[in-house]
Amino acid sequence: MPHPSEIISVLRNSFNNGKTKPISFRIKQLKSLYKMYVENEDKILSALWTDLRKSKSESNVMEIGFLYNDIKNLVYNLEEWAKPEYVKKDLANILDTAYIQREPFGVVLSIGAWNYPVNLTLLPVHGAIAAGNCVIIKPSEVAEATSNVISELIPKYLDTDCYRVYTGGVAETTELLKEKFDYIFYTGNSTVGKIIHAAANKYLTPVTLELGGKSPCYLDSSANLKTAAKRILWGKYANVGQTCVAPDYLLCTKEIEEKFIPIAREVLKEFYGENPKESPDYGRIIADRHFQRIKKLLETGKVIVGGDCDPKERYIAPTIMTDVKQGDPILQEEIFGPILPIVNVANAHEAIKFINANEKPLALYVFSNNTNEVKLILNNTSSGTVCINDTLMQLTVDTLPFGGVGQSGMGSYHGKYSFDTFSHKKSVLWKDLGLLGEKLGAAKYPPFTRAKMNYLMFMLAKRPWLRCNKKICNVLVFFSGILTYYIFNNYMSLYYS
Ligand code: NAD
Repeated sequence: MPHPSEIISVLRNSFNNGKTKPISFRIKQLKSLYKMYVENEDKILSALWTDLRKSKSESNVMEIGFLYNDIKNLVYNLEEWAKPEYVKKDLANILDTAYIQREPFGVVLSIGAWNYPVNLTLLPVHGAIAAGNCVIIKPSEVAEATSNVISELIPKYLDTDCYRVYTGGVAETTELLKEKFDYIFYTGNSTVGKIIHAAANKYLTPVTLELGGKSPCYLDSSANLKTAAKRILWGKYANVGQTCVAPDYLLCTKEIEEKFIPIAREVLKEFYGENPKESPDYGRIIADRHFQRIKKLLETGKVIVGGDCDPKERYIAPTIMTDVKQGDPILQEEIFGPILPIVNVANAHEAIKFINANEKPLALYVFSNNTNEVKLILNNTSSGTVCINDTLMQLTVDTLPFGGVGQSGMGSYHGKYSFDTFSHKKSVLWKDLGLLGEKLGAAKYPPFTRAKMNYLMFMLAKRPWLRCNKKICNVLVFFSGILTYYIFNNYMSLYYS
């Protein structure tokens, strides 16, 4: 593999020559990626099975399905989104044009994680391509089969002068990070997130950090327990709990816990049969290191459902634990595996206290039919995303930005937010050079007088009430500009000189 500096030099050259600027070029690349997914679906699904024993259905819905929809959305909207965005102005610039022009950053590094190794590696890349950047794609070495498929396929479908895959582990990523990029997009844990942030700091490179953490789930007595159990357990055990927005732990009263557990047993039987190990819909832990880490977490608290492990297959059964207490490792680190600990709280106020005593989560879930209780939690906690009465589903709404806050990340993407993330929003004020414009602005020049100052203050004053309706405002602003100009020239010009 060539040295990162050689790859970046090729990409920078293409970027500087404007190769990725035309919208038609970006759309062509996105369509080619779409073709790549269609023509290689079996290969991709098989790699996901090898890495995570991910079922065909889960892979289609949660990995490839996201990618298809995202490309359709980008291709359909790109021309519109890339157009200049005209903005409202005040009297001082009445004759001029003010707009936001979105422009690509340049050469972007996108680092993916292993848990949804196709989706998380390529979804950000769609946004980077749509915005007109050149991209180095770094798949996670932990999902090796998927990384191999991505590095084999991408050069066949994307222009290699503009988009490259760089594979490898910590050593290779460390080498990459020594280089200067114009944007870095990283998905993974927050410890490495800090390393990425520090490396970006050296060149003041802007970053998006899509991190993780412990996402709480509060269940109250007003919720339908069977429906809530189905939705909570589905979100927890999808991809064997290896989902950044999986509900990490459940907060409820002891009374609800006692009702929830038998229902949860029933639901798990419906989902995965008598023995989840034999279910084609239940995956495996990605690597021995993670298997050992999760298995160790079973040692604290009481296993009430599941708990079986098989190191040979890296299998851990869907597990529910009770009697866990603050300070236990299972309540300290992100579980990222198929264990759902239940923490007892007396009410929503205690739940809020518990949530706020920890780092700000990526997702927060509330199951309740009590609107006041839901609002109480919403208004008194902070998290990247919230979903009421379901889990994971917030990710399917791509008109909502997806990202963390505090330790769970910075920046966001999905849908138009991806395009915006990878675009610099350049402010453009295009002034008129005519005589009228010059007269209107003449008071800004020295020597200064009180009349000039008053005039300038009038012209620059904010009139938010004038900004309600675009057409009416423009007419009003225009005529008040003419009036001001008239008054200024006829009565106030006496103060000049
Ligand atoms: P990982 O081990 O695949 O690491 C992610 C990337 O970081 C890889 O490409 C890897 O090569 C690189 N990397 C690892 N160590 C590095 C180092 N020392 N220096 C430079 N680069 C390094 O994935 P992971 O971190 O185990 O992923 C799981 C975590 O990611 C969880 O915390 C999860 O919540 C979070 N996550 C967040 C999102 C999100 O969208 N917010 C999505 C998925 C996972």
